[in-house]
Amino acid sequence: MTTCTAATCSRELHDTEHANRQTLCTPCVDTIKVWLRELPVQIIVLEGSRERETTGASSGGRTVHRTAPLPGRADTLNLLGPAAWTDGIRDPYGDARHDQHGPLSIAGVLIPWVRLITEERRWNPPAVLTPQALAEWLVAPRPMAWASRQVWAGDMRDELQQMMRTVRNVTRLRPGRRPISQPCPRCDSLSLVETDHQLYVDCTHPDCEAMFTRAELAFAARIHPAALEAGAA
Ligand SMILES: [Zn+2]
Ligand SMILES: [Zn+2]
Repeated sequence: MTTCTAATCSRELHDTEHANRQTLCTPCVDTIKVWLRELPVQIIVLEGSRERETTGASSGGRTVHRTAPLPGRADTLNLLGPAAWTDGIRDPYGDARHDQHGPLSIAGVLIPWVRLITEERRWNPPAVLTPQALAEWLVAPRPMAWASRQVWAGDMRDELQQMMRTVRNVTRLRPGRRPISQPCPRCDSLSLVETDHQLYVDCTHPDCEAMFTRAELAFAARIHPAALEAGAA
């Protein structure tokens, strides 16, 4: 049994995923796609708050905002900050963890992964290095499929998750989440949550964090009562 290489995922890889030589499970790959497609919307919000900060500061007087309190300006500027192609030096085969030091920028997180893939595959990089263009390049079928077979795919997923957490904390824009009234098929706790635009339902129990498709949950709901009866007999 091989499990998904993401540190945040303990899902066992299915036969189809093995056959496809994936090191990252399909739910994790789909989650990355959701994040990268969500980024352009998040960036619009970040740019809007940067604009309001600038105009708000020049007015001199009190600025009344009817929306939620503004995110910290430093956070916004850091996230939108530029990054150079040559900043992205990464040794994916070294065993050192790539801890993010200093201010985080979206481009600074994406460039090393995009650069790694372009160099290994000899594919053309995006024409511009905006965070939107980088995200669009990375989420395309060919780079995503190739990346999901690499030993570092789990590191990429974990790093992108950290980035999305930071972005969402600054914009306060999060996909809608709703609890599901069915016990988790893996840990049996009532902690399943479904998320907008996401194919998978997550278990939010800290010791479990399993992911399920609707079909898997429907199947589990059918066998669960039978399993309980068998256990009691
Ligand atoms: Zn996974
Ligand atoms: Zn669970």
